[in-house]
Amino acid sequence: MIEIEDAGALRERVLSAKCDGLSVGLVPTMGYLHRGHLKLIEVARAENGLVVVSVFVNPTQFGPHEDFERYPRDIEGDRRRAAEAGTDILFAPAAEMMYPDGPGGQLVWIDPGSVAEAMEGAARPGHFRGVATVVAKLLNIVQPDRAYFGQKDAQQAVVITRMVRDLAFPPTIRILPTVREPDGLALSSRNVYLSEEERSQAVALFRALSEAKRLIEYGERDADRIKALVRDFMVREAPLGRIDYVEVADLETMQPVVESVQRDSVIALAVFFGGTRLIDNEIVRFDGASPSLS
Ligand code: AMP
Repeated sequence: MIEIEDAGALRERVLSAKCDGLSVGLVPTMGYLHRGHLKLIEVARAENGLVVVSVFVNPTQFGPHEDFERYPRDIEGDRRRAAEAGTDILFAPAAEMMYPDGPGGQLVWIDPGSVAEAMEGAARPGHFRGVATVVAKLLNIVQPDRAYFGQKDAQQAVVITRMVRDLAFPPTIRILPTVREPDGLALSSRNVYLSEEERSQAVALFRALSEAKRLIEYGERDADRIKALVRDFMVREAPLGRIDYVEVADLETMQPVVESVQRDSVIALAVFFGGTRLIDNEIVRFDGASPSLS
């Protein structure tokens, strides 16, 4: 594995790999790599001749009072883990490389529109504008054949998929399932900030979402009742948690379901444990008129 900080140098490497007939996979991350990221890298490794992993904590997707400064960083560990998972090039640009005029000097942004309005978009104004813009930059710098993202960030996956479709970006977007701890907690770089007690209660996110999914599979269609079940579950099982939002949204449009769940949907949940904000989701797919039990 080699490490590159310069976008121009990276482009040259990628171009020469493409000239050798290799396909290129990109895995964008903010670092502090865990098994969720490594799964994306492993799949990229299996599907491409050249695997590029980017590590960049993107300032423009954090709100002014969010955890940009204290977001966990460990480039040494990232090097080791990325190499072991089969990365060819680790792209770890400085902020000046990604924002030559500084984040405040960036004039042109990607506006992801209505898919970015609800849930994370409502709770974190400007978040998806920052995400879409930095991903667009990374896709332009690397020019991969495929780019890999996790279902863990369900709305982000839709924002990126829509951006690529609506703006005719060339790569194929691959969305891979959420990787979890044995008890069900979704892996996240932020889990490291949970106290022991918070960590043991944090599994309630997954369990509440699983219960809600089961409820739908058993025939419940009322979005308010489904959300109430998730809230009640969290209040009971995770008293240290403070719910930011619970939502049931259409999987394609990311618009909250009004009244009745009838199409493929995501049940999404965001919860604060102290200053640590966790998100998770479950997907419910309808096969004809009934949701699949898979
Ligand atoms: P992040 O470093 O948190 O920005 O995540 C980088 C990529 O890894 C995003 O596409 C995430 O959706 C994905 N990711 C993060 N956590 C997980 C997980 N537990 N399972 C699968 N993918 C994940």
